Amino acid sequence: MSNQPPICYACDKKPAVTYRRIDGRYLCKDCFSKWVIATVKKTIGQKKFFKRNDRIIVGLSGGKDSTILLDVLSKIEHKFPSELIAVCIDEGISNYREDGLPIAEMNAKRLDIEFHLFSFKDLFGYSLDDIVTRSRELQAKLPSTRQTKLIQHRPCSFCGVFRRKALNIAARKLDGDKVATGHNLNDVSQTIMLNLLRGDANKLLRGDLKPEKVHELFVPRVKPLQNVAERDVVLYAFYNEITYHTTECPYAVEAMRLDVRNFVTEIEAKYPGTLNSIRNSMETISKKCSEELLTTKNNDNEKETIQLCKICSEPSSSKICKGCQMLETLFKKCK
Ligand code: SF4
Ligand SMILES: [Zn+2]
Ligand SMILES: [Zn+2]
Repeated sequence: MSNQPPICYACDKKPAVTYRRIDGRYLCKDCFSKWVIATVKKTIGQKKFFKRNDRIIVGLSGGKDSTILLDVLSKIEHKFPSELIAVCIDEGISNYREDGLPIAEMNAKRLDIEFHLFSFKDLFGYSLDDIVTRSRELQAKLPSTRQTKLIQHRPCSFCGVFRRKALNIAARKLDGDKVATGHNLNDVSQTIMLNLLRGDANKLLRGDLKPEKVHELFVPRVKPLQNVAERDVVLYAFYNEITYHTTECPYAVEAMRLDVRNFVTEIEAKYPGTLNSIRNSMETISKKCSEELLTTKNNDNEKETIQLCKICSEPSSSKICKGCQMLETLFKKCK
């Protein structure tokens, strides 16, 4: 038996370095990278994510996904008059974020992309560490009531609410038309499973069909890496010698997402293609629902019910936005 590596399926010249599980083909380093870029380009085109002149705000954390997203977008978008702007949100997580920030900035510089930093502390007055510490203090001393439910969130739930808000504020300040985040195929499939397990039918059915401007103060969000599996993101970084922040957030172990992530990874390893199946099934269901329910009923309702938060004046589906409700309860109402 020959010990020679197989020849790349795409160029039929170079030795293959990776096996594309989705169709059982071997690819060389260059053809693998081209395939990742082509996959992202196809997603952008099919879902009409960007217009030619868009100012695209890329949420850059320094981690693998957002770093690869910025790299791939820079290769795709340089052919268009669009502009990429990298935005890093410092949540204020000790022994974690401070290591990721310089890596994020370095990658933006490497690609000659404008870089901006925003922090929870500057935008909201508290870091994520402040919020989590206060929530734990109150949880230890207060009985569980309807009001205190707001302080019982896990760190990732607080983080998600404030990060979405921070990115939206940052995107508006920078005159952005779209916000692109680094969620990959694994993340998208995990989110579907999480919404299912939590019984959050609204989020589940809303899906992720096309970037909608539901309110003039909301900058639409898109996930161009949604068809690229986590494994391929890591390989792309490796073959292109891209440095990224590898440390795991200290709060990640407390998240339900971690269990779902492990479950989904195991299933995918055992039955390749499951990630795609989860995402495709949900997309089909979302499409059917959006035609009948969301575009007509819910979206109209959503457009009608979006109002400005009485405290921070940011757009919200209730009188006081979720972030302000959390901060009020944690730092003002509960003593
Ligand atoms: S793991 Fe959770 S707390 Fe940490 S950055 Fe991610 S969402 Fe925020
Ligand atoms: Zn090749
Ligand atoms: Zn508010």
